[in-house]
Amino acid sequence: MEIFESDVVIIGGGPAGCTCALYTSRANLKTIILDKNPSVGALAITHQIANYPGVPNDISGEKLLDLMRDQAIEYGTDYRRAQVFGIDVSSESKTVYTPEGTFKAKALVLASGAMGRPASFKGEADFLGRGVSYCATCDGAFYKGREVAVVGANKEAIEEANVLTKFASTVHWITSSDPKPDNIEAMELMQANNIKHWSRTRLLEIEGNDMGVNGIVIKNKQEENPINLTLDGVFVYMSGSKPITDFVGDQIALREDGGVIVDDFMSTNSDGVWAIGDIRNTPFKQAVVAASDGCIAAMSIDRYLNSRKNIRVDWIHS
Ligand SMILES: Cc1cc2nc3c(=O)[nH]c(=O)nc-3n(C[C@H](O)[C@H](O)[C@H](O)COP(=O)(O)OP(=O)(O)OC[C@H]3O[C@@H](n4cnc5c(N)ncnc54)[C@H](O)[C@@H]3O)c2cc1C
Repeated sequence: MEIFESDVVIIGGGPAGCTCALYTSRANLKTIILDKNPSVGALAITHQIANYPGVPNDISGEKLLDLMRDQAIEYGTDYRRAQVFGIDVSSESKTVYTPEGTFKAKALVLASGAMGRPASFKGEADFLGRGVSYCATCDGAFYKGREVAVVGANKEAIEEANVLTKFASTVHWITSSDPKPDNIEAMELMQANNIKHWSRTRLLEIEGNDMGVNGIVIKNKQEENPINLTLDGVFVYMSGSKPITDFVGDQIALREDGGVIVDDFMSTNSDGVWAIGDIRNTPFKQAVVAASDGCIAAMSIDRYLNSRKNIRVDWIHS
């Protein structure tokens, strides 16, 4: 697996991550953003944003995020699509694991937002990592020639189901409603010859044994009886609001509500690791707050990496 080295690695390309990258790149720090998917964060799914200062109110969250990302890239940020599945912060150089490679950095920033959700389906928590997954890009290859299910109708579910059609013998796509006819990605997905779409259907239970998942129970709204499907993997893509920290393990201190604990400089309890934006689970989840966190962390990182006594301002332009 290829190893990439940089000064700063930022996990998450939302307003927090992009703002942090803008500032660290402008401070001449080699910066990489690792972003699972630019379309699934909180800002990306915001239909219209009318309260981001200085921005006209007919802009969509996705467009605003494109502008933020492009600005960071313009100043040198290396933006990559990759889902982080693990980190190691035990040594001075921080390590980040993704299916696309291993990334090492002197400073690590956690900016993955709060669009996660607690495991809520019966059996989901029991079989997490043993047949239940949230990342087809990470785990899809384990299911070559086997049957899997994808649960959810959002953009991420559709993209990930598409990934799984390249590996699995059959992908059972379970959605609680019918995708709209103008949803081109959904329509294309349904054309794949190894997709079996179960519309208006709910997942009732994930079943398994010591070896992991071996089936699911689903129920169609119009049918009286549930249906049992025999399969080996379940990929769940439902929206929620819980800080995304599953890749952190117990390496970083979290509050009881799941938010990462930081000080005034956005530093976590682990030296060389910062956390910004909704992952902190503050009551003030706003794009401008996330951007502000990113700026604070970046200036703090510049001071940390360059052993400055003071924060260096970013408004002296030559
Ligand atoms: C429906 C809705 C409407 C909103 N409306 C407004 C509004 O009008 N005004 C306003 O100011 N705020 C609004 N907000 C809040 C605002 O969008 C958030 O506060 C802000 O987007 C948080 O930024 P963030 O960068 O922390 O997280 P996010 O924007 O959620 O970005 C997180 C990024 O991390 C990535 N990621 C997650 N897990 C991983 C992983 N394992 N590996 C790599 N990348 C990962 C995601 O793909 C995503 O790109 C709204 C939120 C929602 C949900």
